[in-house]
Amino acid sequence: MNQFDYLIVGAGFTGSVLAERLASQLDKKVLLVEKRDHIGGNAHDFYNEAGILVHKYGPHIFHTNSKKVWNYLSQFTNWRPYYHKSLATVEGIEVPIPFNLNALYQCFPPLYAGKLETLLIDEFGYGRKIPILKMKERSSGELSFLANYIYEHVFLGYTTKQWGLTPEEIDDSVTARVPIHISRDNRYFQDIYQAIPLEGYTEMFKKMIDNENIEVVLSTNYKDIVNDISFDRMIYTGPIDAYFDYLHGELPYRSLQFEYRHFEQEFHQSAGIVTYPNEFDFTRITEFKHLTGQKSRSTTIAYEFPKAHIQGKSLPYYPIPHPENRELFRKYKSESKQLGKNVLFAGRLADYLYYDMDQAVARALSLFEKDLCSSTQMIT
Ligand code: FAD
Ligand code: UDP
Repeated sequence: MNQFDYLIVGAGFTGSVLAERLASQLDKKVLLVEKRDHIGGNAHDFYNEAGILVHKYGPHIFHTNSKKVWNYLSQFTNWRPYYHKSLATVEGIEVPIPFNLNALYQCFPPLYAGKLETLLIDEFGYGRKIPILKMKERSSGELSFLANYIYEHVFLGYTTKQWGLTPEEIDDSVTARVPIHISRDNRYFQDIYQAIPLEGYTEMFKKMIDNENIEVVLSTNYKDIVNDISFDRMIYTGPIDAYFDYLHGELPYRSLQFEYRHFEQEFHQSAGIVTYPNEFDFTRITEFKHLTGQKSRSTTIAYEFPKAHIQGKSLPYYPIPHPENRELFRKYKSESKQLGKNVLFAGRLADYLYYDMDQAVARALSLFEKDLCSSTQMIT
């Protein structure tokens, strides 16, 4: 029987960071078990048959304000600086998203746009970011017209497709991720660090878990081997409801389906992501070469179709931020507390939180420092 200090379930950011820390800093023997046939979790990328590097589970753009997270990941990759730009199709034209002052001038005649610009700056201040629902609430007169215009043309259709819920029905934090930006800055994010791993995410993960203390087993549900191995502690980064065999019912997730197209031309669209808030059943098209910087005469794009998640039939992509779901999550959280420190839960699926990659890394580093280092001496 194999003996490990830790069994880690899931080789995404959360599981891989924890495996790396435990193996390299505390000299722990780790078994990293992954259900899928690859490492990297949802950030996994690979070269398709046409030789284009694609993100298997949708576009992944790294951005963070955390120097700690940036420095940590920089041990395992060099970076390609990348300031993501996204466009939304509004009445047949492509405008910057987040909707900003440049978008305003594209949607309205210059004199009227100028008037709205002045009103916006007077009301909110240049450089400010206002979530659409806040803007609707706080606006009156012409600004109220503008807020409703942006709501209808950018948010309502996209959010209803993406979540099966209107912006009012889903947690405010979701649409607040893409606020109205009273600025001329066309970048999607304003974080200090914005980049893509130079050789891709999968290569970064390979380096992260390349340690003789880490054994990786792919294509395996941990439940199928858990009784055949011996370990002191478990870290679980899968869906928390699945761990408890759906004791209190299923936590809702939103799923996605991707359709790929390949073209014998250098580029298909002018930005990494173009969103379609109102037209078509898909929400957005990603063209990977804009993100990765890969040079090639041909290109691959992915259409993204949101779907209801059906347990066992689709992948749980997004936890759905909603008070009822948080309530159900809390029941699972109390079950997990009964297990003490022998089984630790962390990650987008185990915490049932809409983490970005940097937040998943920060969560893993904090768990390591607070809960795993305390009783053991670090290697110096
Ligand atoms: P995951 O990556 O989901 O890893 C969990 C792993 O556990 C999975 O690989 C799963 O197969 C495995 N697992 C589950 N159950 C079992 C089991 N029983 N046995 C064995 N293994 C199991 N973040 C950004 O910062 N920027 C972006 O641009 C961005 N874009 C995104 C786009 C999409 C479409 C999605 C869905 C997410 C995006 N994210 C983005 C978020 C990012 O993917 C997550 O923050 C990150 O992947 C979370 O890592 P994790 O390890 O917590 O979870
Ligand atoms: N959103 C929208 N229209 C857009 C882009 C985003 O309504 O053109 C809303 C939508 O509700 C979406 C949310 O903003 O789910 C967050 O968008 P983000 O790009 O952060 O989504 P992710 O990349 O996490 O899927």
